[in-house]
Amino acid sequence: MDYNLHTHTKRCHHASGEAEDYVLAAIKGGMRVYGFSDHVPQQFPDGRESGYRVPMAEGAAYCEEIRALREKYKDKIDIRIGFELEYYPLYFEQMLRNAIGFGAEYLILGQHFIHNEHPGGRYVINPHNEKEHLLVYVDTVIEAIRTGVFTYVAHPDIFQYNIHAPEYEESMRRLCVAARENSTPLEINFLGIRDKRIYPNTVFWKIAGEEKAPVTFGLDAHQTEDACDRASLAIAQSLVEKYKLNYIGMPKIIDIRSL
Ligand SMILES: [Zn+2]
Ligand SMILES: [Zn+2]
Repeated sequence: MDYNLHTHTKRCHHASGEAEDYVLAAIKGGMRVYGFSDHVPQQFPDGRESGYRVPMAEGAAYCEEIRALREKYKDKIDIRIGFELEYYPLYFEQMLRNAIGFGAEYLILGQHFIHNEHPGGRYVINPHNEKEHLLVYVDTVIEAIRTGVFTYVAHPDIFQYNIHAPEYEESMRRLCVAARENSTPLEINFLGIRDKRIYPNTVFWKIAGEEKAPVTFGLDAHQTEDACDRASLAIAQSLVEKYKLNYIGMPKIIDIRSL
């Protein structure tokens, strides 16, 4: 694995490390393409900003910083400038315009909330029992895929629900079919592997294999120690083998600058 498009920085306040330290670690670890995709700034109509994102006031500086690093290390590594964002039907246009305005080139989808996050949104990693919430999550991700602007879907299996329920399989199969039809890769998330989270979950990846959805890897690095994370790679590769996943390697980057 010599690529990674899923890297955070200390600007989002729940990760640590300067962008340059990630770059140096990536070069040392033999990375060829390295993309930053910190949580996109977002301000809701009542003025609130989510605490886990890059602040609005730093969005442009974040892109500038990565751009300068790209220039500085251009002989050693191919650095890309991106954001991770949710698809909120109510705010998507604005979030997209902000990301482009700040200077980002690509986006990955990380659907951390349903129902537009604020006010009244629900955090997807909390346990959910209502089938309706599962359907909202899956419908939202599918709608996001169909916009065609996301380079890939990070941790598609992040929604916490009874993975053995028939409606879970049915819903995730729809998600995987949409990913295949739109050629949007689904990410096996290395942060989930490192932290032994509920994702990656085997029920989801079995379905992804059956539906031949395109699959890629993402480090989701939140500290420089994880800038390459070779330990999780073996586990991700074993999932690819076990479920005969359609692993495509480095995803084709969708350039949002011309949108
Ligand atoms: Zn994060
Ligand atoms: Zn992330």
